[in-house]
Amino acid sequence: MNTGASNPVVLEDVQIKLVKPSAPVIGRVVLNELCMNGKSASYVKHTTFDVSGTPLAGTFRPGQSFGVIPPGKDDNGKPHKVRLYSLASPSWGEDGGGTVISTTPKRLMGEFFPQTARDDPSDHHLFRGVCSNYLCDLKPGDEVLLSGPNGKRFQLPADYVAHDYLFLATGTGIAPFRGMLMELLQGPGGACGSEIHLVMGSPYTTDLLYHDLFERLAAEHSNFHYHTAISREPRGMGRGGLYVDVLLEERLDSFGVLLASPRTLIYVCGLAGMQLGLFGMLARHDLDSNYCTRSVALADTDPADWDAPAIKRGIKPTARCMLEVY
Ligand SMILES: Cc1cc2nc3c(=O)[nH]c(=O)nc-3n(C[C@H](O)[C@H](O)[C@H](O)COP(=O)(O)OP(=O)(O)OC[C@H]3O[C@@H](n4cnc5c(N)ncnc54)[C@H](O)[C@@H]3O)c2cc1C
Repeated sequence: MNTGASNPVVLEDVQIKLVKPSAPVIGRVVLNELCMNGKSASYVKHTTFDVSGTPLAGTFRPGQSFGVIPPGKDDNGKPHKVRLYSLASPSWGEDGGGTVISTTPKRLMGEFFPQTARDDPSDHHLFRGVCSNYLCDLKPGDEVLLSGPNGKRFQLPADYVAHDYLFLATGTGIAPFRGMLMELLQGPGGACGSEIHLVMGSPYTTDLLYHDLFERLAAEHSNFHYHTAISREPRGMGRGGLYVDVLLEERLDSFGVLLASPRTLIYVCGLAGMQLGLFGMLARHDLDSNYCTRSVALADTDPADWDAPAIKRGIKPTARCMLEVY
């Protein structure tokens, strides 16, 4: 279903790869503080870096990411490779001048699962992700090797007011939306009046990130709507947890209008695979043609029969749907 010709999606030319990981610059930690909504089993920080005097200063646009090169060597004795982290700030940074940038690192910790014949079947040691733990442990004043900017496709359109926005996040996928929302609502030219919806998915209420900021923005701007989808807390009356795509489907009375509008852009950031539920849901309600194309193999099939591999193989996003999943 489509209610008219869509507004063309024009993206700005952004600067990329000014600083290569092979010749990184030094950023200095300004702040490193928890950004969760209470006591949680996960551990996520809001980390800011002063990049003044480097080619990174003043160059970022929300939606881009930057590289962090952790110190030390990997198991093969080689220097650790660069890891990417989404920018969480608007184009004017955390300081107003674009010289302090931020991101949202989550400690990666897990249990080793033997998978190959060479693995010891009794080995279930715990491992710590290299760079995420390095970032989470940093103190103000610490020096960090940085590269970037990275990415030119996942960004706001050049003409903000020509579009409405549906931002869908899980976990640290919220980082770019913090920057984009600040850009849209707190810019020097005044708040953009477009309809803006953010749906934040997390396992527990305590895992919501930047929750206070989004509540405050929603209270201050009647065109900004903040929704949370909590997947592991029962909702009563026999209903299970709420996932991002399930929330959209349950509230299609209001989201259906937004999704059918030719002005709307969808942005998806977070867990790899979160777009699969979204595309399946859009197709079941005949709302997919604006945001994705179906392969020939899927063209005449019933979306109710699609499974995740079929969606992965056969559905491609259009210019009106931006994906950043990892
Ligand atoms: C564009 C982009 C933006 C991103 N933005 C963010 C962001 O804003 N915030 C964020 O937190 N992350 C973000 N990431 C992910 C980030 O780049 C890293 O992948 C993440 O932080 C993990 O890195 P690490 O060095 O801690 O883990 P690594 O040490 O690189 O481990 C990564 C994987 O290796 C495996 N592994 C590691 N050690 C072991 C072991 N001993 N035994 C078995 N398996 C093991 C695990 O499967 C693990 O998932 C982003 C990624 C991309 C591509």
